[in-house]
Amino acid sequence: MSKQIVAGNWKMNLDLNEANQLLQDLIKLEKKFNSNAEVVICPSAPYLSAFAEQLKDHSWIKLGAQNAYFVDSGAYTGEISPLQLKSIGIDYCLVGHSERRDNFDENYEMLAKKSKALINHDVAPIFCCGEQLQVRNSNVYREFVMKQIEDSLFSLSAEEIAKCVIAYEPIWAIGTGKTATADQAQEIHNLIRARLSSQFGENVAKEVSILYGGSCKPENAQELFSQADIDGGLIGGASLKADDFCAISNSF
Ligand code: PEP
Repeated sequence: MSKQIVAGNWKMNLDLNEANQLLQDLIKLEKKFNSNAEVVICPSAPYLSAFAEQLKDHSWIKLGAQNAYFVDSGAYTGEISPLQLKSIGIDYCLVGHSERRDNFDENYEMLAKKSKALINHDVAPIFCCGEQLQVRNSNVYREFVMKQIEDSLFSLSAEEIAKCVIAYEPIWAIGTGKTATADQAQEIHNLIRARLSSQFGENVAKEVSILYGGSCKPENAQELFSQADIDGGLIGGASLKADDFCAISNSF
């Protein structure tokens, strides 16, 4: 059975004091968070190590990184390796967020290597996919998203892909306030699950959590999360408010 997950992508927001405050606000809400959902936060990289220490007594919050490179160590100034992430207790890492694909030219091949390297170090990739508005309007969005997944994840074994989380994030919905309807999201989630099933088998397809991302908030999370193939959300803006993030976790 796939896990229910709410993952917060803090992006490049918050200075250290603000980030610590948000972490404390979340910790205080422990009893109010849905205990059936895995709660993941992905703060900026400079805070990960200190947060990992603080969360030792609050292990119900899991930590995710926003990016990693695909080799263990070496002359790659400015990069962070999966091995380093694991060494400080990181459980998840975003891979291929549309902002990284667009701003840093991350391509399908690179994302395949990143996903594989993370799995090798037991860090679960949260693999992001999703189409631009013009792709949605041109009606080839289904093929587009399938290709993103096939080209970056289908070189993994069944055992490896079972460790991945997939986040469907239509780019036209990210940070725009324009959410995909529950039907639009479910259509793609269902296609992703069916494609995983035909490639890796039904049992593996049922294991993979498929999250929706794109202007998900307390007001629309319940409808989205009630869809058969939506296992939770990757939350940007609303994850910066502890109460909203908590309310989203209670929307299953
Ligand atoms: C995101 O960037 O992953 C995201 C889903 O952002 P937002 O919730 O702000 O649309």
